Amino acid sequence: MTLLHSWRAVLNCHPTLIKKRVASSKTSSMSRSASRSDSNPVRARKAAVLMRAKAAGLFGLARKRSAGALRILCYHGVWLADDGFAGDSMFMGAETFRRRLAIIRRNGYPVVPLADAIAALAGAGPALPPASVVITIDDGWWSTFHSMLPALTANGMPATLYCDTAQLMGRQPIAHVMARYLEIVAAHRADHNATAVDNAGVDAARIEAALGRARDLTAPMEARIAGCRDLAAALGIDPTPYHDARAFDYMSPDNLAAAHHEGLDVQLHTHRHTLGDMSPAFVAREIADNRRALSDILGRAPETFRHFCYPSGVASPAAANVLGGLALASSTTTRQGLAWPGMPMHLLPRLLDGENMSEIEFEAELSGFGDWLRGARETVQRLRGGPRDPLSPSSLRRGGHGNIPVSDPARG
Ligand SMILES: [Zn+2]
Repeated sequence: MTLLHSWRAVLNCHPTLIKKRVASSKTSSMSRSASRSDSNPVRARKAAVLMRAKAAGLFGLARKRSAGALRILCYHGVWLADDGFAGDSMFMGAETFRRRLAIIRRNGYPVVPLADAIAALAGAGPALPPASVVITIDDGWWSTFHSMLPALTANGMPATLYCDTAQLMGRQPIAHVMARYLEIVAAHRADHNATAVDNAGVDAARIEAALGRARDLTAPMEARIAGCRDLAAALGIDPTPYHDARAFDYMSPDNLAAAHHEGLDVQLHTHRHTLGDMSPAFVAREIADNRRALSDILGRAPETFRHFCYPSGVASPAAANVLGGLALASSTTTRQGLAWPGMPMHLLPRLLDGENMSEIEFEAELSGFGDWLRGARETVQRLRGGPRDPLSPSSLRRGGHGNIPVSDPARG
């Protein structure tokens, strides 16, 4: 059995890895090559359709029809490790991010501060220029500080960082994310016939045990990071490049304060990156702790933090009602769509960008054509008697989101 075959055997018999491997296969096919032409036939067809739609003037038409809607872009971090993996929906290439900003600039989309945009959306502030864009970044990755903020500054574009503070103050790599990406990278290498796989380390039981230690939220962070080291060894991956690149580190509180001093808008993302059971008490405690920590780090009064982003992509109308009572002006989700006037201010959708999105898809989303396509697809599904998505942008525009919790934990 070759090295690669033994690897695939483990991946194929390991339930967690099967799931990750599927995700990674999608990810890898959508990686850096996707930004160019794309070798995946389905995605290549989609790109061709979008190119034709753009050439036919449909992007321009969509932009006019959605001029009053806000494009709230959502980013996370940059993939800094030089290991052949290009990134995915969460981490994107630094060059991809710079090219996105160039597309926004080249196409004349005005980038406005979140606070101004929310005031306008709520009818409480001056109207915005047509087709305005807001740039938001979740979490507080070192790579955001290292690569995204300089690119934004160079373009003179305002941005908001939704920052969870317990991880920021912990000054340790984020173990559960590291564990997830070690699996993704391992599957990516297997898919790409990489040779740097240690056959002797392939041991499903050891992988399972190491994953369990890395993901044990009740264990001290040192023990969880030790679990990541063991996972890397079990997967045959040298963790040194990730450590050196600070791939799974948050920025420091000092970094955050410096970025804020340079003009970065910093807002709320909970203290512990969770809303727990979404009970009013849990939600209120997370917002209060997050406000207090940001206040200490940035030297601003706690009540001046008035915008929130749900962590882990989990949102619900019930939580939105609680957030509305906490002196917050807006809350954003990871639902894909434009934010229209009249939508609930604590369930605002965003446009999730990542390495898995090609440039033509990004242009389609910016123009509003992507939103139009999703709305049309939803209408067809509804006519066929399919289930209604209460938090889809078209449901939110109609005010029909009801009171049904909906989660989208893929990102956030
Ligand atoms: Zn987050």
